[in-house]
Amino acid sequence: MDLTDLEHARALDRADPLGEFRMRFTIPDPEVVYLDGNSLGRPPRAALEALRRVTSEEWATELIRGWGHWLDAPLRVGDLLAPLIGARSGEVVVTDSTTVNLFRAASAALDARPERHAIAIATEEFPTARYVVEGLAAARGLEIRWLPEHPIEGLAVAEIDRVADEDLALIVLSQVNYRSAAIADLAAITARAREAGALVLWDLAHSAGAIPIDLTAGSADLAVGCTYKYLNGGPGAPGYLYVRRELQDEFRPPIQGWFAQAEQFEMGPRFERAAGIAGWLVGTPGMLGLAAAEVGIALSAEAGIDRIRIKGMIDGQRFHAISLLDAWLAPRGCTLGSPRDPGRRANHVAIVHPDARRLTAELMARSVIADFRAPNSIRIGLSPLSTSFEEVHRGLASLRELLDA
Ligand SMILES: *Cc1c(COP(=O)(O)O)cnc(C)c1O
Repeated sequence: MDLTDLEHARALDRADPLGEFRMRFTIPDPEVVYLDGNSLGRPPRAALEALRRVTSEEWATELIRGWGHWLDAPLRVGDLLAPLIGARSGEVVVTDSTTVNLFRAASAALDARPERHAIAIATEEFPTARYVVEGLAAARGLEIRWLPEHPIEGLAVAEIDRVADEDLALIVLSQVNYRSAAIADLAAITARAREAGALVLWDLAHSAGAIPIDLTAGSADLAVGCTYKYLNGGPGAPGYLYVRRELQDEFRPPIQGWFAQAEQFEMGPRFERAAGIAGWLVGTPGMLGLAAAEVGIALSAEAGIDRIRIKGMIDGQRFHAISLLDAWLAPRGCTLGSPRDPGRRANHVAIVHPDARRLTAELMARSVIADFRAPNSIRIGLSPLSTSFEEVHRGLASLRELLDA
């Protein structure tokens, strides 16, 4: 069959073992082609129901008594998320924003290596991580070591050896590059850093819910991420923080909030940190965001990360998005801005074109929602539970028409 035929996309949809999950999302306008679920996932129907329940039933009728069961939510949802990122129970809290968690984890790591004066980060790292690192370096008088990252293939493990010496305290890295979707070798990079006595803080924003992650096997120390991208937790749903069990009591969180207090409601005179991951909480969690995030995370857990990965690989691979790019878009001036090897690429595909900014806006005007990423790429996000193959087909067909116009 012709791989660019709409029938091919429909056949892939019919054979998709995750196809039924699309029905579990609310999709009010089926004409909208949504290729941005990697920035903000579509709403699961059950998330809307959870929001109604928490507001109309719990908040309205339980009032402050609701805290009897709300208090545990950051830890409970953390345990629900843990298997999706290869963490153990009691290693993850879902709370605060990714950026705040990044700052907290990086600060704790730097405090744990007081005799070292350098911090490393990739040149192509997501902006918030670069800004946090620049701020920490300025406040603490640290040297920043920039890791050169290939714009398509990502960070080579060998680059770590260039920066990791006895003065390097911490490396901050995304597991999946937000532009190209290149996957970094978490286990190898963590191991190289550790040989030099440095810590690595992993940002899982574009990997959780898209690819299998094994923080335990990779021997990761610290990680953070978002719940509103592939995990479909909703706008502004809380981020998460992972601290390897063995380090939770040894490392010191930079913010001593009352939610980390061992006997929180004794309101005691001194801070005595709760043992374990509870000691990394800060203040009152946002229950609406957590309730929706819990549903989104549960959906990914139910689908299973292995099935999610298989769909992502088909979608991004020569079978589909990339075959359409090769057949339709490459002859019209587009190039692939992501690794071609599906094993090295997560769930989005970057399409590079000099007019990417204008094209993304024109796609939007045709109800094809994708992301422009400076300087010149259109990011096509393939959200495994809610994006259909037909949607990808229609989106890229619109782009082809625009290129011909
Ligand atoms: C989306 C994203 C963030 C977002 O951080 P927030 O604090 O939730 O705004 C952080 N890091 C990476 C790599 C991202 O892709």
